[in-house]
Amino acid sequence: MSSASLNILMIASEAAPFAKTGGLGDVLGSLPAALANLGHRVVLVLPWYRSVQSVTGRLRLSRRKIFVPFDGQMLQVGFRSLDQNGVRILFLDVPNYYDRPALYGEQGEDYPDNAERFGLLSRATLELVRHIGFVPDLIHAHDWQAGLVPVYLRQQLWADPFFANSATLFTIHNLGYHGDFPPETLRQLGLDSTLNGFDGLEFHGRISLLKGGIRFADRVSTVSPTYCREIQTEDFGMGLDGLLRARREELHGILNGIDLKLWDPSSDPSLAVPYSAESLAGKQLCKEALQREYGLPVGVETPLLAMIARLDPQKGIDLVLEAFDSIMQRGVQLVLLGSGRPDYEQRLSAAARFFPEQARILLRFDDRLSRKIYAASDLFLMPSRYEPCGLGQLIALRYGSIPLVHATGGLVDTICDPQQDETRANGFSFETLSSRELLATLDRALRAWRHKSEWQALVQKAMSQDFSWDKAARDYVDLYRISRGEA
Ligand code: ADP
Repeated sequence: MSSASLNILMIASEAAPFAKTGGLGDVLGSLPAALANLGHRVVLVLPWYRSVQSVTGRLRLSRRKIFVPFDGQMLQVGFRSLDQNGVRILFLDVPNYYDRPALYGEQGEDYPDNAERFGLLSRATLELVRHIGFVPDLIHAHDWQAGLVPVYLRQQLWADPFFANSATLFTIHNLGYHGDFPPETLRQLGLDSTLNGFDGLEFHGRISLLKGGIRFADRVSTVSPTYCREIQTEDFGMGLDGLLRARREELHGILNGIDLKLWDPSSDPSLAVPYSAESLAGKQLCKEALQREYGLPVGVETPLLAMIARLDPQKGIDLVLEAFDSIMQRGVQLVLLGSGRPDYEQRLSAAARFFPEQARILLRFDDRLSRKIYAASDLFLMPSRYEPCGLGQLIALRYGSIPLVHATGGLVDTICDPQQDETRANGFSFETLSSRELLATLDRALRAWRHKSEWQALVQKAMSQDFSWDKAARDYVDLYRISRGEA
């Protein structure tokens, strides 16, 4: 395969540390820099959200303007530019769309103009790169928020010489979010009404921006090999399995990595005491520090379970609720950090009220606290109903918190149970999604935890595993070349 360096354009709605609600933000926080590190030129386009301004703060990035054809007019759009870790980040600055308290919505309600907000992100990106003279060899669009990028290219810019040599890759980070809107939205997005059909963006009487990305990109990928297979089945395909099967020759699965520098217990400033696989004493002190901070009985003789997740049915919260009392009867402590569906927040808090000496439910999004919990915990619960890749379990491994997972999607590709293979084991997993299986697996894990020296060896092995971005970034470059027809 050719080794020439590529001009790569990335479009997404999140990238850590500027904006993050989940794994998408982690991926876009790391992959662009990993690609730049391999010698490619990378431009990343993001909205200039309010949260971005709190991160860039004192940098005072100057605002420039361009005009973008959108919603039947030439819209004046601001942008700001920042060079970081070898990546040029262009922030699209449209205050009435992006200067808001949240990324996608508030109090469980999506913002009603999300189609325009992210349609503009997609359309304006293509004018922005023209404006700065960055001719992309590969345009990599992520999730429904950037799903219209391949659509605009195919529908409006197909004859534009600037993009004549640009191939597109669309990555599905979560098939559960379709970005679906009323068909009339097409007009506002400046798209032809004929796209409201089976061969276009139509999905059960609405239009889906996710479907647009899958349908019109040259290649499609998702974030683990197992999820790539699963989404082609009716059980996991969320209604798009037919289209995905039709495109199976152009569909790929590349496992995410994590940034080993950003997630490192030996240098993480959030931790009470740093530690490493070679020197684990600090992990016990982190556990005691968290117990003290949250008023739990202090001591390393009680196993500490953690869960850090969006409170969404995808994450198997109902299983945890069902098993809550039984988990507590095992005499463990549980610290759960999450935010999301108000009914889950309320039911988890209510369940924990009966166990003031054992359980803490912390309802917020808090990166610093999440790090303290990864470090303090012995076991990390992730009973996901489905899981495209999952980063929680990879971060947990890195911090020596042993994952206990439902065997689905990326969790199958990253977590091995001793019952499958004793020598490769790095966690515990169960096949059938039920609270009974969850509890039976917890019992196995707790039995293993009591054998101190074996457990310590397991923790050390987990912490030493390499789920870094290097391999994934190389896999993406290979796929970029395949998308360009070079391979
Ligand atoms: P998803 O993208 O489906 O939410 P992942 O496991 O891929 O799930 O990624 C979740 C990311 O978000 C991890 O970095 C995790 O630590 C973080 N996270 C989830 N909930 C919270 C929270 N309440 N506070 C801080 N970080 C969180």
